[in-house]
Amino acid sequence: MTPGDRKRMLDALGLVDWQPRADRMAAGTGATQAAVADRQEPAPDRAPGTVQPDLATPGPAEEAAVEQSTASTPAEAAAAPDMARHDGHDERASTVDASPVDTETTSAAGEVARLDWDELEAWLAGRDHRGATRPVFGIGARDADVLIVGEAPGANEDAQGVPFVGRAGKLLDRMLAAIGCSRDTNVYITNICKFRPPNNRDPNADEVAADWPVLERQIELMDPKLVVAVGRVAAQTLLDSKQSLGKLRGTLHRYPRRELDVLVTYHPAFLLRSPGQKAKAWVDLKQIARRIAAQ
Ligand code: URA
Repeated sequence: MTPGDRKRMLDALGLVDWQPRADRMAAGTGATQAAVADRQEPAPDRAPGTVQPDLATPGPAEEAAVEQSTASTPAEAAAAPDMARHDGHDERASTVDASPVDTETTSAAGEVARLDWDELEAWLAGRDHRGATRPVFGIGARDADVLIVGEAPGANEDAQGVPFVGRAGKLLDRMLAAIGCSRDTNVYITNICKFRPPNNRDPNADEVAADWPVLERQIELMDPKLVVAVGRVAAQTLLDSKQSLGKLRGTLHRYPRRELDVLVTYHPAFLLRSPGQKAKAWVDLKQIARRIAAQ
């Protein structure tokens, strides 16, 4: 990563730049050296089926960045209603069954198995909207290598039919731009749930199961190299896990049902509420950038 790339990434996350102090470098703690090496050298791509070493623990650079990270503005602190359900939830272990596969799902999966993108979108539009205004199918480059998966539409997304268009979406776009990614060119963005959950609550297991075949078909049609799960619900659902986001984050996972890497990171709505976590999101962004560069 060039210094310019690094600056763009820090700016996107609202972090102040940090330089290692010469005296600490000279003292050369292992952790410092590892953090510096991490910034300078792309990690080797891992062999299929293996797990990337821990990336979750921020080194001194990230810790310093956390300390120096900009406090949330008053506007950020007064989060929009569509961000409420990400308020600190993301570290919880699941209390619902994260496994999306049941018999209804299996029959819907059969229905969508041969549909192309437009047919799939039309199929979704013909489903029960569960009180939502419209489905939010997804947006971006359908042939991209990177698929971003969020949780469910909020109020803005429900109104526009487009994922991640609120304040969290704007942060997501800035983060992606920092690593040269954009919904206009080289990523596709969608959600686990395609309809806004009533009262903006977390999607329940039935809603996740109902929309699961659409996401699976999207993954199949797109055949991405990397799925980025943003937030706890996306991570637990995609990985069929009940572990907390904190445990799932920091490791490159293998998607259970096909040859595909899954990286877990914080939901941008959570980052707006907890800007101190942005340094860890930066670590994740670097990992995404490395994975893309290794294609
Ligand atoms: N949060 C999500 O998880 N998805 C969206 O599309 C918007 C907000």
